[in-house]
Amino acid sequence: MNNGWEDRERAEMDDHTMSDKETTTWRRVTCQERDVAFAAWNGAWGVGSSLTDFDGQYGDPQMFTEWWDKATERPVLRDRRYPGRPGQPDPRPCEHYLAERTTP
Ligand SMILES: [Zn+2]
Repeated sequence: MNNGWEDRERAEMDDHTMSDKETTTWRRVTCQERDVAFAAWNGAWGVGSSLTDFDGQYGDPQMFTEWWDKATERPVLRDRRYPGRPGQPDPRPCEHYLAERTTP
């Protein structure tokens, strides 16, 4: 017999290791909820990654920012804004997402 089952078990263990046994889901929140959460973290967040595309190269012009918890280096918040042209209102409402983690 071959050891195919062992191989599969090993692969699943690798998956768990990579995801740190946690699943991150992004919950959309209002601007208010976002501001409350942001204030509560009180500077413990830093910018993990950001993308600015004012020229609209990838669709509508947008500013994307992902905030990370500085202590754990994990993403906690995503902001996406669609800035209007100077003097114009934003063409689309901003979006905010808070990370929620579940452990199996
Ligand atoms: Zn907003």
